[in-house]
Amino acid sequence: MDHFPIFLAVQGRRIVVSGGGETALAKLRLLLKTTARITVFAETPEDGLSALAAERRITLVSRALGPGDALCAALFYAANDDPAEDARVARLARADGALVNWVDNLENSAFITPAIVDRDPVTIAIGTEGAAPVLARAIKADLEERLPVSLGLAARVGKAFRKAADALPMGRKRREFWAEYYFNTAPQAIEKQGEAGLEPALHDLLARHLAEAPTRGRVDMVGAGPGDPELLTLKARRLLDRADVVIHDRLVAPAILELARREAILIDAGKQGFGPAMAQDEICALMVEHAAQGAHVVRLKGGDPSVFGRLDEEIAALDAAGLDWSVVPGITASSAAAAQIGQSLTKRDRNSALRILTGHDMKGFAEQDWRGLARPGTVAAIYMGARGARFIQGRLMMHGASPDTSVTAVENAARSDARTIATTLGRLASDLEDAAPTGPVILLYGLAPRWAEAALPRQSADLKEEFA
Ligand code: SAH
Repeated sequence: MDHFPIFLAVQGRRIVVSGGGETALAKLRLLLKTTARITVFAETPEDGLSALAAERRITLVSRALGPGDALCAALFYAANDDPAEDARVARLARADGALVNWVDNLENSAFITPAIVDRDPVTIAIGTEGAAPVLARAIKADLEERLPVSLGLAARVGKAFRKAADALPMGRKRREFWAEYYFNTAPQAIEKQGEAGLEPALHDLLARHLAEAPTRGRVDMVGAGPGDPELLTLKARRLLDRADVVIHDRLVAPAILELARREAILIDAGKQGFGPAMAQDEICALMVEHAAQGAHVVRLKGGDPSVFGRLDEEIAALDAAGLDWSVVPGITASSAAAAQIGQSLTKRDRNSALRILTGHDMKGFAEQDWRGLARPGTVAAIYMGARGARFIQGRLMMHGASPDTSVTAVENAARSDARTIATTLGRLASDLEDAAPTGPVILLYGLAPRWAEAALPRQSADLKEEFA
């Protein structure tokens, strides 16, 4: 996207046009829909322009534009149909600080005017960055046909009613009210009684919606898995499709957030290892606030919500508020990482237990049962361990772990940018420093990638002896 669409506030601001012919008039037809103050500079203005000036809809200055004439202008149009003159006035207007559009000269324009479908205050702007004006016109014609002319009127009256409609709880209830207004109530009222019918119809509709029993909000704590949208559960997918509010962690991949309903409110409660984060209390309060208003909230967590997800604090807050909740499991990072390196997390004759631990907790680097972990044949999935790698390595070796023990770090497991760093305990910290990962990393302690195992026969032999 080389051009970013915005809606510019022009009420009472200056827009200056240079040009006295049909090109200038065509631009004016659009500009006159706005509440801007329009000044036109033209040495020999056409009758159409003089007529607009006589109606006081524009200020007409019957001479060529000079230095300072475009001062304080929000927008400037060079519409002389004469490249030399357009180049001259564009230069002057730029010097005066205006945003310049040189009609039919994309390269020298700071902005372009889209094709517009006008149902004021509903305005649809269509642009193709100059690639296909025909396409823009076709889309415009299609929309013009589809959107009832009464839409603008319904929206204007609706806008004035927004405060009253705030009596409905935010979220689904309010959305249902407005959907019924725009798609049923308003068209019917306008057909029967014209504009005068709209306000009474809104009052009736609101009374009916307020009388209906309020829907109960709820919160589903949903595992988003490691990042690949295909690794979402069907249930997670369905809930995302319905949620009014999605409160998500930073770990949740953008491709997964895309699956939320267009109208859903997305709230980033991003927590990053050591960086700034929304406080847990704040997250709990947000969930409670939305659900208490009747919203269906999905609390979306990376991986599985029950693994280092502070699930219990959130459940406690929901219980205290008397709200319904459920937990939807997801694929945790250790499963994704094991799949990535073609290994099982447990294996007969190798490890009959799997430890799940964190390298980092609220107090800093986490202390663990290092002695137990140092025992040969131990397999552990270490979450949040990359930054504490040197600490973990030191502790384990101090407690007798062999520096040859396999460790595999998997960054961005189950994502397109996944990276596997196969190393040993002795080289862990320096290899990680060299790799300088920027995504989430899980350490699989005691596991080598299946394809690297053959290259580490000594360790397997050691293990066999140990178990014998
Ligand atoms: N609930 C999550 C874990 C949250 S703790 C789960 O079940 O996976 C955050 C840590 O999870 C990260 O520091 C990292 O160690 C690990 N992690 C999460 N997603 C990951 C991914 N796609 N690849 C590698 N590690 C990941």
